[in-house]
Amino acid sequence: MREFEYVRAGEIGQAVAAVSADPAASYLAGGTTQLDLMKDGVLAPDRLVDITRLPLGGITRDGDVLRVGALTTMEELAADPTVAGRLPFLREALLLGASVQLRNMATIGGNLLQRTRCRYFRDPAVPACNKRRRGSGCAAVQGVARMHAILGASEHCIALHASDMAVPLMALDAVVHLRGPDGERSIPLTEFYRIPGDTPDVENVLRHGELITAVEIPLLAPDARSTYLKVRDRVSYEFALTSAAVAVRLDGGVIGEARVALGGVGTIPWRAPEAEQVLRGAPASPEVFAAAAEAAIADPFTVPGTAFKVELAKRTLVRALRTVAGGAS
Ligand SMILES: Cc1cc2nc3c(=O)[nH]c(=O)nc-3n(C[C@H](O)[C@H](O)[C@H](O)COP(=O)(O)OP(=O)(O)OC[C@H]3O[C@@H](n4cnc5c(N)ncnc54)[C@H](O)[C@@H]3O)c2cc1C
Ligand code: SF4
Repeated sequence: MREFEYVRAGEIGQAVAAVSADPAASYLAGGTTQLDLMKDGVLAPDRLVDITRLPLGGITRDGDVLRVGALTTMEELAADPTVAGRLPFLREALLLGASVQLRNMATIGGNLLQRTRCRYFRDPAVPACNKRRRGSGCAAVQGVARMHAILGASEHCIALHASDMAVPLMALDAVVHLRGPDGERSIPLTEFYRIPGDTPDVENVLRHGELITAVEIPLLAPDARSTYLKVRDRVSYEFALTSAAVAVRLDGGVIGEARVALGGVGTIPWRAPEAEQVLRGAPASPEVFAAAAEAAIADPFTVPGTAFKVELAKRTLVRALRTVAGGAS
């Protein structure tokens, strides 16, 4: 067993200082990602700074924006009445993720930073993984790649970002609030993640030691319709093969506002602005939904194991759009 130091932070500044000062230190929230990867030998921090006692819980509403503390659990967020009323597809995404036991431990900040489920990343005995060791290659491209990405992927890395929650948050233009050694900053979630390129080890714009303190989520309009459709190999306790988060406002049979993001297909939770453009101002018809799906998956990178996802992702989006269009299509 590899030894590490455990520190329980009592104050936000203390936690940030403790991790910032030590390149081999990490934060510990619910531990459902971090501890798994330490047990598997993928991560080996010298120091774990437990943030669960920091005052970063709570959900508050200010007008049409919900501010969610980073330590709010997935289950707490799903149970919030404003989420149920004004962000129903976010609630669906939360409740379709993991299991109730995990959702009671897993925090919102930790969920955004969960690591890929790529089996080769999670097995240190596999030498070729650019995410674990830059320049070592990618075992998944030639390997078993059913649960991998087709958008934002390349021969350097096809690892999937598996969060369900982050998919509607991308569609909603959520904003991530950070506290680092140099102060606070806020980043739109759509600019938070990094496409792997030839540096798959760099997953987001966080600087070492920066702490996610909260996520701000704009509410949907009261008359918006939304859904989160998750397609998976079994109906519970399983990651998405494909998913779609869709929110629209309809004026008669015409689509007004449209928000679309995809899960199960991207190296990052995938906003689909091209699909939104097709939908806005168009009739809610099967032809328009199909065109939106074509636009969303226009430039996939596939390997034999993931090729099926191109058609599945399009069908997932079309079905989600049919669901929100109700009788309009
Ligand atoms: C069996 C299993 C099934 C799962 N199924 C699903 C699923 O279907 N859908 C889904 O979306 N997810 C799923 N998950 C993933 C789960 O949602 C994440 O593990 C969880 O949300 C991580 O939150 P945590 O609080 O436990 O984070 P931790 O494990 O504590 O931390 C994760 C990472 O984030 C960092 N971190 C945590 N909080 C902060 C912060 N505030 N600021 C800066 N860094 C921070 C940690 O240092 C670590 O690197 C599953 C997990 C397991 C184990
Ligand atoms: S897909 Fe990415 S995480 Fe998986 S083996 Fe390849 S480089 Fe590593």
